[in-house]
Amino acid sequence: MLAIQRIRDILQPLVNFCKKLFQKKQSEKKIIKAEKEKKTEGKIKHRSFTLYMTRHIKIYMEYYDLGMQDIITCEVCLLSGRIDGSGFDIHHIQGRGNGKDVIENIMCLCRNCHTLAHKSVYSKTKLTKIHKKFL
Ligand SMILES: [Zn+2]
Ligand SMILES: [Zn+2]
Repeated sequence: MLAIQRIRDILQPLVNFCKKLFQKKQSEKKIIKAEKEKKTEGKIKHRSFTLYMTRHIKIYMEYYDLGMQDIITCEVCLLSGRIDGSGFDIHHIQGRGNGKDVIENIMCLCRNCHTLAHKSVYSKTKLTKIHKKFL
């Protein structure tokens, strides 16, 4: 009996090590799965956003009397480019929803500033202030 106990004592650290290794693998798998889900989520969001955007570009363009050949400017960093190039988005300052598709609530941002706006690097208050200068 004592011998068995000794063998157990010797093997226990090895068993623990294997358990930890297994748990680590499992949590790594979970992280990879979460990252994959995040990526797909981003793709879906971007796709629906692109569809959605087209309608609001029209509102924006009508207000500023812009045609598809014209130059559009990011209201935050003043980067300019052609409207039909894909580097510019029309952003909803206070989010989307009923009655939110008005010129006071939509502004043109370059892709970089748009990302920062959605990460709240630029606050809604700051964006509203900037946009007012363009109205
Ligand atoms: Zn910009
Ligand atoms: Zn936006």
